[in-house]
Amino acid sequence: MDELDIDPSAMRAMAHAVVERLIDHLATLDTQPARGDLTNSEALSAALREPPPETGSELEALLAPLFDDWVHRSFNAPGPGYLAYIPGGGIFPAGLGELIAAGLNRYTGVWNAAPAFLQLEANVLDWFRTWLEYPPSARGLLTSGGSLATFSAIVTAREALLGTRLREGVLYASTEAHHSVTKVARLAGILDDRVRVLATDAAMRLDVQALDQAIAADRKAGLVPFMVVSSGGTTNTGAVDPLEEIADVCARESLWHHCDAAYGGFFYMCPELRPLLAGLPRADSITLDPHKGLFLPYGTGALLVKDGEALRRAHRGTAGYLPTFPDTQLYNPCEYGPELSRPFRGLPVWLPLKLFGAERFRAALREKRELALRAYAALEHVAGIHRLEPPALSLFPFYLSWPGASLAEENEATQTLMERVCARDRVMITGAPVKERYLGRICVLCFRTHQDRIDACIEDIALESAALTTPKR
Ligand SMILES: *Cc1c(COP(=O)(O)O)cnc(C)c1O
Repeated sequence: MDELDIDPSAMRAMAHAVVERLIDHLATLDTQPARGDLTNSEALSAALREPPPETGSELEALLAPLFDDWVHRSFNAPGPGYLAYIPGGGIFPAGLGELIAAGLNRYTGVWNAAPAFLQLEANVLDWFRTWLEYPPSARGLLTSGGSLATFSAIVTAREALLGTRLREGVLYASTEAHHSVTKVARLAGILDDRVRVLATDAAMRLDVQALDQAIAADRKAGLVPFMVVSSGGTTNTGAVDPLEEIADVCARESLWHHCDAAYGGFFYMCPELRPLLAGLPRADSITLDPHKGLFLPYGTGALLVKDGEALRRAHRGTAGYLPTFPDTQLYNPCEYGPELSRPFRGLPVWLPLKLFGAERFRAALREKRELALRAYAALEHVAGIHRLEPPALSLFPFYLSWPGASLAEENEATQTLMERVCARDRVMITGAPVKERYLGRICVLCFRTHQDRIDACIEDIALESAALTTPKR
């Protein structure tokens, strides 16, 4: 092959080879180790370093190590046993959507270059808006993930409320807010000395009294409180901040309320689960992560802003060669986010939603919550396990505890428990230090996880807890 264009029969053969490999892999996910083989990872990385290839290779020679070796040397994040961090899974039709979007390679940076495609993307954002009970004035943005959604939210709030008084602006979040909040605040020009990290209550929810006091103290110091970033499901423990009360404070103090619902936001799709996130639609803007709660492959986050014009004002750019569209019903994404050229992110969301329909996603979300509740209930009977709050959504923390143990011993044992359960290769679970405790956690959000995996998880925790809490010596 001496040119980059490939004839149709070669394209078909290549695509066929890739799809066969991919489906063989996906069809055996449930029997693959839940954590993946992470031995000698540094040596693996070192062995893979190579100079740029001057000449080509056969496709098969490239696919073989990718599918036979390298993929297994990673967390099995799409697998049913992945109860670590925040799962998602990656539904197959979304992968097809990415293939189509990249294969077609139409320009979706400006509306007039692909009006139909951008209407599909606008529809997706409008469906999110409907599910979140946001008004028609809302506009949004599909991003690469939750972090950049929150980044654009902070930029929008900053432009709307601070303007050139950037250095005076103060942002509030809790100690349990995702670490990306302070990171993207800094990227948005809100430096660490203007970010107040507030205490949480016993249930790890933002302490509203502490918020009130911090706002008053900052006003007294001549600063300009402008934004609260709450959590609609924290990553460490799954706690949902008191969104109604935070909305009240923000209304009273004229602050922008952004809710980081990257983990939990899509549970709001289910009407009977809305009380778990009561007050969410009162937020001025919301981060969602379709690559978590809509089970999409990594690379799709979303931001919704109630005052769509504020989002637009903060991100608009102009150039002589770029058309402008006064009719804001025509969705021109470069006016709503930092990117110009961009992948057609709408398609991998639109295709599965149209193919399956929303109710199938709701059913999956309900099942994940139900599984988490059952896991929580089952752990009550496991000796040595101390549970905290029941799952606010589909994630809950716990730790090992036994008579006479010190905090340090319990922390070490809990951390060892996570490791030993993972080593049994049926589930992968991870923990996190919260305040002075190291907490184990179970997060059920992969669409491939069902009751059998939860049973396996509880069995493995019970076996390893017994070994760890039996008095030594
Ligand atoms: C995952 C997560 C983020 C970060 O989102 P990315 O998509 O990884 O950028 C932020 N906040 C919460 C609560 C999350 O769960």
